[in-house]
Amino acid sequence: MTPDLLGIALGEHQTLFTVVAGLFGLLIGSFLNVCIVRWPALESVVRPRSRCPQCQLLIAWYDNIPVVSWLALRARCRRCGLPIPWRYPAVELATGLIWLGAAWLLGPSLEMLRAAMFFTILLGIAMTDAREYIIPDEFSLGGTVLGFGFAFAGGAVSWPQALLGALVGYGLLWVVAILGEKAFGQEAMGGGDIKMMAMLGAFLGWQGVLLTLFLGALLGTIIFLPLKLAGREKLVPFGIFLALGGAATYLFGGSLLAWYQVTMLGG
Ligand SMILES: [Zn+2]
Repeated sequence: MTPDLLGIALGEHQTLFTVVAGLFGLLIGSFLNVCIVRWPALESVVRPRSRCPQCQLLIAWYDNIPVVSWLALRARCRRCGLPIPWRYPAVELATGLIWLGAAWLLGPSLEMLRAAMFFTILLGIAMTDAREYIIPDEFSLGGTVLGFGFAFAGGAVSWPQALLGALVGYGLLWVVAILGEKAFGQEAMGGGDIKMMAMLGAFLGWQGVLLTLFLGALLGTIIFLPLKLAGREKLVPFGIFLALGGAATYLFGGSLLAWYQVTMLGG
């Protein structure tokens, strides 16, 4: 299991480190915006440099400062006035808060880096799945490799746990997908969801990935069933709910599993 953040006594706040990590997170968020737009379109995130989609103006560095530039430009392109979606500063701010939060709670450590990267990937997946019903392999398979890397480097989840987690996550959803297809005669689960489960398992271990699937299915049912019954939504972006489930499992998984053991299994 991952360490339970609620159980960690907050030590002395390393203010400077926390602030620097938050600012670094804003830059990561700026890059994440590029990944969110370009990876689903199978484009490079390195070249070409970003341009305004309407007037083709090359975005200068001073118009690309996270959050600040969007505010300074009042959410419009400097030349043609094309609105810049609020999603851009929102993703930057959210990523900044992820890195700030990880630094504040975990201090300078391998686990801080692991947590920040994990939550950044979850945010990226939630965004691409919400926008285009796509979970890019760079997030899912790339994330799996990253999870293994942290496990081998001595992260909170050991490498046998990570390996087992990835296998359990991938295998379980693969079986669910096959059964769903047999039962409903249509694709119930996308390949992206299955690969995402491998990533979740690599970061959370086999118990964590099971809890994630349970929480994700629960949230998905609570939030999506009313929309589905009303005929408002056809496709379910399950990656969003798996991302929420994964985040909850990282933060509260230890407490939830302990509570379950005591309450349901009598200790
Ligand atoms: Zn423009």
